[in-house]
Amino acid sequence: MTPIINPDMQLSEHFTLGEMCYSWTAANHEPPVPNIPLKCHITALQNLVDRALEPIRQHLGLPIKVNSGYRCQLVNSMVGGAKTSQHLKGEAADITIAKAHRPFAHATDEQAARLIFSYAQEYADYDQLILEHQGNSWWVHISCKIDYLRNRYDKLKIENGKVTKM
Ligand SMILES: [Zn+2]
Repeated sequence: MTPIINPDMQLSEHFTLGEMCYSWTAANHEPPVPNIPLKCHITALQNLVDRALEPIRQHLGLPIKVNSGYRCQLVNSMVGGAKTSQHLKGEAADITIAKAHRPFAHATDEQAARLIFSYAQEYADYDQLILEHQGNSWWVHISCKIDYLRNRYDKLKIENGKVTKM
């Protein structure tokens, strides 16, 4: 029997269902937390990949690292996510460029995040695009509504919890 959730399932050329549902926190918890998406979440992840992540990946020409995509309620609370986080719906991902793949001129966390941010605003269909920064860590949060005609095209920056418009 084929499992309903196949982590190796390719959502697009460069993104698998498994990486869109992986959570380091969930995997390293004792016991591990499953973080299993429902069908509606997979549909939302597919939409996010098709409209945002894969177009960014294609134009950038570099592998994108997904730090966090879909989160079940438990995982979302474990990582301190907002109660209404779009990660809960499969509509959001936190992304960066893995260190090994960063271009020379974009080698730092901040430069890599800003590079992704610029490609995202150019090539992605997004609801919220957020440059996030906590301590030395920088990443881009990008969401795309399943009802993508309602995307708001918000551009924000969150630095150590403080929100500003970009
Ligand atoms: Zn996020």
